Amino acid sequence: MRTTDAVWLAPGEPQEIQSDLVSRFHEEYGRPASGTWFAPGRANLNGEHIDFHAGRCLPMALTHGTYVAAAPREDGLLRMRTLDASLDDGVTTVFADQIGPQAKPAADDALKDDSSGHWSQYVHGVLWSLRELGASHPDFHVTEGFGADILVVSTLPIGGGLSSSAALECASILAFVALGTPLGLQNPLDDLNAALTREHRKQLAAACVRAEVEVVGAGTGGLDQTAAMRARAGKVLSLDCRDFSVQPLDIGCILRGYRLIAVDTGQAHRLADGQFSDRRAEAEAAAQLLGFDRLRDALPEKPRKADVLHVLEEFDRLAEQLESVAGRDIEACRRRLRHALTEMVRSEKLHHLLSGEAYGVRHITSTVGDILTAGHMSMRDDAEVSFTVADLVVETALAQGAEGARLIGGGFGGSVLLLIAPAGVPRLTAALEKISRNIRLIDVAPSSAAHAL
Ligand code: ADP
Ligand code: MG
Repeated sequence: MRTTDAVWLAPGEPQEIQSDLVSRFHEEYGRPASGTWFAPGRANLNGEHIDFHAGRCLPMALTHGTYVAAAPREDGLLRMRTLDASLDDGVTTVFADQIGPQAKPAADDALKDDSSGHWSQYVHGVLWSLRELGASHPDFHVTEGFGADILVVSTLPIGGGLSSSAALECASILAFVALGTPLGLQNPLDDLNAALTREHRKQLAAACVRAEVEVVGAGTGGLDQTAAMRARAGKVLSLDCRDFSVQPLDIGCILRGYRLIAVDTGQAHRLADGQFSDRRAEAEAAAQLLGFDRLRDALPEKPRKADVLHVLEEFDRLAEQLESVAGRDIEACRRRLRHALTEMVRSEKLHHLLSGEAYGVRHITSTVGDILTAGHMSMRDDAEVSFTVADLVVETALAQGAEGARLIGGGFGGSVLLLIAPAGVPRLTAALEKISRNIRLIDVAPSSAAHAL
C-alpha cells in the first residue's frame, strides 16, 4: 500500500541533482560539463488559451524544473541526451548549421530520417533561434562553429501542463548563451545571472517561442517561456501579452493560511497535435469575424461581464446569415470566443485584486478560489479542453473544502491547480489517491526564473 507521501512529487535538492547530472555527463561524454543551467516549470492562476489573443496571464514559477548540463564544442556538432526514462533513446547528434524550421538534422548512428516530434527539437530549436537573435543583437551573436554536448534531467512531469517544454527551452538557451555568445563568454559562468538584463530575458523568451512555434511546430503564445525566463520568487507574474510587459505581484495575500497545489493527473497531453490548434483556430476565426487581429482589443481596458455579453451579441449578429465562420462550426467558434473573453475578464479581475487596486474585497482567498473554479468551468464547457480525470480532481477538491480549483495548461491532459487550507490537505490527498494511482501533487511556492547554477 502506498503512503500518502508517495503522492507528492518532490522538487529535489538542486545541488544534489546538479552533482548527479554532472557526473552522468562525464560518463556519457568522457569530459566534464562546463556548467549547469536550470529553468522552472510554471502554474497559472489564470490566462489559459489567451496569450495568443494578447490577453493577460498570471503564471508563477515552480521549484520543479529542468536542468541542463553542457560543455561547448568547436566542431559545430550538437549532441543531446535526456535522462527522462520515457524519452531517452541515447545521444542524438545534429549539425548545428543544419538546424532550423523543417530541418531534418542527423549526423550519427541515431540518424533519423524525420526528426519531427523528437524531443531534441526543443534544444536544437533554441540554438537556431538564438543564432537568429544574435544576427541582430551583438550580445547574443553565436560563435562560428559553436556546438555543444548536452545532458538533460527534469523534476517536472513531461506533458503534464506545467510547461516542461518551455523549461527545457529556457535552460538550454541559457547554456548556449553562457557557452557560445559574447554575453556569456565575457563573464565568468556564474556571473551570467547578473549579466542578463530584463530586456535580455525578454528577448530570450521570445527566441524560445520562435523555436517552439517554428521548429517544433506547436502553437505556443509566449506565456510559458515568459514565466520560465522572467518569473520572480514569491510573486505572480502579471503578464500583459499585448506587449509582453510584466508586473510581479505579491502572492502573500492569497497564501496567508492557504496552499496552492498543482495536481498532475498523470494523463499527459500532446500539444503539438491537432486539437489544440483547432481550438485556437476557432477562437481566431471568431476574432476575425469581429474584425480584431487581437481579441484582447475587443474588450475595454477594465473589462466586465457586460462587455463580454456585448461582444457575444455582436458575434451573433455577424454570424446570423452565415453557415460557418471561415469554414468552422459557428457554435464552436462562439464557445471558444466566450472562453477567451471570460478568461480575459478573470485575469484582469485577479490582476486588480492582487495589485491592491480592488478595494472592498474582504475575502480575497474565496474570491480567488471562485475565479479559479469559474476558470475550470470555462475550460470544460467553452474551451472544451478538459477531460474526465481533471473534472474529477476539481470536483473532489471542492468537495474536500478547496476554495477553488481549475485545469491549467493547454488541456487534453495535464494538471489542476487548487487553493486549499492546510488542514484540508490530508483528506484531499487521500481522496485524490482514490481517483487514480498516477496522480502526483506539487506544492506551488512561487519561485525564481531560469538561472545558471
Ligand atoms: P508540457 O510543456 O506541458 O510539459 P508539452 O507537450 O508542451 O507539455 O511538452 C512536452 C515535450 O517537451 C515532451 O514530449 C518532450 O518532447 C519535451 N520535453 C520536455 N521535458 C523534457 C525532458 N526533460 N527531456 C526531454 N524532452 C523533454
Ligand atoms: Mg509545453
